[in-house]
Amino acid sequence: MGIDEPKELENELDEEDQWQLYASAEYGSNYDAGSDDEDTEVVEEEIWFDGDDFEMDGGNLDWDAPPCPAPLGIAHVIKLGVCDCCLSRISGSSPDRVAIDAGKELRGKAYDRDPELVSKISQEICPLCENLFDDVENIVSRVIDSLSGFEFSTLQFGIHLPKDLIQEEDRIRSKFGAQGSLPLKGALVRSIHERIAKENMDVVFVKERPDVMVLVDGLTLRVDVDVRPVFLYGRYRKIARGIPQTRWPCRSCRGRENGCESCNGTGLQYPDSVQDLIGEPIRSALGASDTSFHGMGREDIDVRCLGSGRPFVLEIKHPSIRDYKLQDLVELVNENGAERVEVDELSWCNRPKVNEVKSSRSDKSYTIRFRVDSEIDSELVSDSILSLSGTEISQETPKRVSHRRADKVRKRRIVSVDSVAVEGDEVEVTLRCEAGTYVKELVHSDEGRTVPSFSGAIGAECEVIWLDVEDIHY
Ligand SMILES: [Zn+2]
Ligand SMILES: [Zn+2]
Repeated sequence: MGIDEPKELENELDEEDQWQLYASAEYGSNYDAGSDDEDTEVVEEEIWFDGDDFEMDGGNLDWDAPPCPAPLGIAHVIKLGVCDCCLSRISGSSPDRVAIDAGKELRGKAYDRDPELVSKISQEICPLCENLFDDVENIVSRVIDSLSGFEFSTLQFGIHLPKDLIQEEDRIRSKFGAQGSLPLKGALVRSIHERIAKENMDVVFVKERPDVMVLVDGLTLRVDVDVRPVFLYGRYRKIARGIPQTRWPCRSCRGRENGCESCNGTGLQYPDSVQDLIGEPIRSALGASDTSFHGMGREDIDVRCLGSGRPFVLEIKHPSIRDYKLQDLVELVNENGAERVEVDELSWCNRPKVNEVKSSRSDKSYTIRFRVDSEIDSELVSDSILSLSGTEISQETPKRVSHRRADKVRKRRIVSVDSVAVEGDEVEVTLRCEAGTYVKELVHSDEGRTVPSFSGAIGAECEVIWLDVEDIHY
């Protein structure tokens, strides 16, 4: 993104060094790439006089001017046409900042020393910054406009400058500027920082994880502002069936903006989703544009998720407000999700938490109720299901998902079968399984693709009636 200044600067210096090395090769007699000890002195001198390609009337310029802060050096850069800001930063008088007043004062003194100097200035455009410092005010007001209405306490700022400008600036500054002068990019960024800080006293300028990122194109003065998302971690319980975890676009219109008849203009296949039941009240409270929902796995639409709930991270995009009382957000969510989705608590987190949640593998406990398709002996059914406690099962990719996943056989452990209750031809089982177990298939065997299975152990067809995730052991 061009905001990693030190690195970029290093590259440019490298190129400059290489260029000088190459240039000096032509001057050194008997130049030999393998021996660099003889010509050192000559080379250094040659760099001074390596000829210039300034496209200007060179009549008044001293090509052998000493660097600033020598008065002749200052007179020389004034002749080159540097602006007061650049004069201040390369003159050696204020090497770590840009001070237009200091520049004006230096210019005044130089004019006092040489009243002719003003008539010897070769061009009006500053060769060091192409008058970019005149645009600082303009850039800052665009930045402030773009950020109005957004709350932020940290800001990362980057400016992209044309490469040839940076190279030319570096060349002149290294030759005629005082040692240790601030390079153009750093100087511009610093004066923009100072100017923004004047408007917003509390902002902290950072190099990573900013609340807002501002990128300026030095050529077009285009300002791009990126308000970074905020993240909330929590666990949800889904206490009603028929709710997908994330928004499902309508199958008929594929979720186009104004929807269609079959989705009542919503663009959604299901009116509710865990994502929106939780995310919408938060999005609206924080004045954000949208949300992304990152769950630790997901349950099927018809499956409830109980116990302490399923861990998730909600990403809230372009928020106007970045801080909000968490307990109030919890209440807003529980009001909005009443009898469908609920959370106990929420906490702020950062993007890495998304990966942590998505990559985590936890055991899950389920309660599952199914019907057995034949006469059953309840004691026999109980015993055969309990006998699967602690065993490993092999599951071929279920038929219902094989259209989107490669066929393979997984081994998963049934950690424990905790209870079995038989009522007529219906059986209710609570069990704990390793992460990634296809639990519906464990019941009906998926036509023998899961072995062993309840159906196999009982010796009869089994049909799932309902299923709850009882807990996620995270
Ligand atoms: Zn300048
Ligand atoms: Zn539709």
